[in-house]
Amino acid sequence: MDLNTSAPSVAALRIDGARLWQSLMDLARIGGTPKGGVCRLALTDLDRQGRDLFAQWARDAGCTLRVDAIGNIFARRAGADDSLPPVMTGSHIDTQPTGGKFDGNYGVMAGLEVLRTLNAAGVRTRAPIEVAVWTNEEGSRFVPVMMGSGVFAGAFTLEHALAQRDAQGVSVGEALAAIGYAGEAGPAPAVGAYFEAHIEQGPVLEKHGRVIGVVQAALGQRWYDVTVHGMEAHAGPTPMELRQDALLAASHLVAEVNRIAVNRMPHARGTVGSLEVFPNSRNVIPGRVKFSVDLRAPDDAQLLDMDAALRSACARIAAERGLRVDVEQVVYFPPQPFTPHLVEAVRANAADLGYGSMDVVSGAGHDAVYVARVAPAAMIFVPCADGISHNEIEDAEPAHLEAGCNVLLRAMLAAAEVVS
Ligand SMILES: [Zn+2]
Repeated sequence: MDLNTSAPSVAALRIDGARLWQSLMDLARIGGTPKGGVCRLALTDLDRQGRDLFAQWARDAGCTLRVDAIGNIFARRAGADDSLPPVMTGSHIDTQPTGGKFDGNYGVMAGLEVLRTLNAAGVRTRAPIEVAVWTNEEGSRFVPVMMGSGVFAGAFTLEHALAQRDAQGVSVGEALAAIGYAGEAGPAPAVGAYFEAHIEQGPVLEKHGRVIGVVQAALGQRWYDVTVHGMEAHAGPTPMELRQDALLAASHLVAEVNRIAVNRMPHARGTVGSLEVFPNSRNVIPGRVKFSVDLRAPDDAQLLDMDAALRSACARIAAERGLRVDVEQVVYFPPQPFTPHLVEAVRANAADLGYGSMDVVSGAGHDAVYVARVAPAAMIFVPCADGISHNEIEDAEPAHLEAGCNVLLRAMLAAAEVVS
């Protein structure tokens, strides 16, 4: 399979950037906020309106629609050989409470724009093309995040997902039925290849002046609770050399966590985001400190190496300072590499189109990360202003969105094969 599309008619094919932008702006009106963002929480009536609009647009583009039991929508454009597994793209249209117009929505509207472009040019593909709208990616109203793609990939069961409840006690199953998107249960069908276009949600592309991020992998994550057990004592009468200061030991460990990641740049991350001090009193030497550690890396070997470095730093500082440090891992999310030949198709087509690209990793979760467990998958990142998302001021350049969608179009055509 030649993944670098070479047929002359296809090589000249481009998506309509203005039409893509208009779709994004039209969708953003549903749940639009005064500050220019979007509040469209999963499985609310606003989510239904967004789904209905997508479904109407997909039908207008000649697609057949299927909804599965967790509410994922699949819009299918027939191929010359419909026995082949589809070449799929997609993302999500649910948002955070103070979300933006582009997170997720871009991936779905880019897929729709690919369909419209193929229709306008009369292009037939051998494999069918599908655009997926995954249910509840954000995990804001219902936990866990990436729910629809997680069920699709078998990361957790349908029953588990349907039973989750929001803060008002409404279950996912009830909410799906209420908005009319509880579809049919059944095994997830095979996918030939999956591409997801998404805003980067970070500052790397913008900083380097690149338009296309060729996503190599999603970072694996290990989260810990670390507790330092020292001894409370009076801040006045206790001489410095006779203290077991839990906060002082913790402060050295905070610096170690940073060093563990800095020593493994550019892709490793290490963060202490939360710290509790006991008794947290001005004139008491802290007797106990509990803090969080979040380590991320693109492959398991590096993540395990960071795990070992954290544990040895804890042991060393405990020994040096004569106190106890307990390390408990509370979350493990494996690194997810994307499929090399699809990643290469993204890179090669970006180059062919003359877009500056660079290899990046995804520090956040995406539907593609779960889909990659069951199908060949890759992601295309485009810059967002100042790297900001999950914020009403989230913004992106129309030209960048257009570029990402052109790369998506060509990568999908190469995977689906054009039939002349
Ligand atoms: Zn997203």
